[in-house]
Amino acid sequence: MKVLVAGAGGFIGGHLVNRLIKDGNSVIAVDVKPLTNWYQINDNSRNLTYDLSLLNSCLEVTKSVDYVYNLAADMGGMGFIENNKALCMLSSLINTHLLLASKNNNVKRYFFSSSACVYASWHQKNFGENPLKENDAYPADPEDGYGWEKLFSERMCRHFEEDFGIAVRIARFHNIYGPNGTYSGGREKAPAAACRKVLECIEDNFIMPLKIWGDGKQIRSFTYIDDCIDGICKIMESNFSNPLNLGSSEVTSIENLYRQVIEISGASSELFKFDYELDAPKGVNGRSSDNALINDVLNWEPNITLKSGLRTTFEWIKSDIRK
Ligand code: NAD
Repeated sequence: MKVLVAGAGGFIGGHLVNRLIKDGNSVIAVDVKPLTNWYQINDNSRNLTYDLSLLNSCLEVTKSVDYVYNLAADMGGMGFIENNKALCMLSSLINTHLLLASKNNNVKRYFFSSSACVYASWHQKNFGENPLKENDAYPADPEDGYGWEKLFSERMCRHFEEDFGIAVRIARFHNIYGPNGTYSGGREKAPAAACRKVLECIEDNFIMPLKIWGDGKQIRSFTYIDDCIDGICKIMESNFSNPLNLGSSEVTSIENLYRQVIEISGASSELFKFDYELDAPKGVNGRSSDNALINDVLNWEPNITLKSGLRTTFEWIKSDIRK
């Protein structure tokens, strides 16, 4: 199959390109970033730099393509999305133009990467698990900016299928983490930030405090990248076109996430001075993935434990910092 991966220079896109090549596809990998800034480059894909917020770019890269995987977005962790709402919403241009171009170029199937940030805020007020079912996105009250863009784009996908016959597949990712992603600079997410901060404290002989955003009581589920890539491929091949949660059902508090990383580092937890930054962006109080629907549709759900995923992520970040 000839497939396009949009956002291939990013974290999830880079891993997806490798998997699709391994599965024998002919892959066009596209990102707005210059190739030197891609997290991973696969020599067996056609790697191109295009701004996919422009219709002409989308028309060019979707020519003779069977499947489109849209992983391109201007995004980051809570620190980025709380402070860059307009930039987040501009990603709707990418999805809109990719859908239009896919329609014009007779693309058979279209994957959209949505997010747990589409879920209505009132389901996420307790410091508990709050497993979110797909229907909990409506009545709509998503994360301002980023979440609204994802919900709008999901809806746009749905109407392109209904009105123009493009088969769409939509996954709502729950905090994806793993090697070959960002861990510094402001766009990193909690697991990568935790690994970097623990390593920095060790490097600093534990003089600097270990800064945690919020009081550490927020509940989340984190999904290892290999589960995410398996899930994307299974969802794309399924016959299900409504949004599906793609997230681990294992939950943890943010403080426990940090404690697990400390354990993996081998340092004694007593050496760390925890500093809770109560004014920092901390997101909703509790959120996790209800996996009843994905189990029903695919007879599968993410199953890699946080401990094993964090270990691989920690080792990669440690070696990348050394490099
Ligand atoms: P990422 O930032 O690593 O990758 C996104 C890529 O899109 C970047 O390389 C960026 O340069 C590219 N991009 C941005 N604007 C573009 C444009 N105009 N044209 C072409 N490329 C453009 O992010 P990621 O973690 O790999 O996320 C991939 C997708 O999954 C995004 O849609 C994101 O919103 C969604 N998502 C990710 C998570 C997560 O935990 N990582 C959670 C929920 C949803």
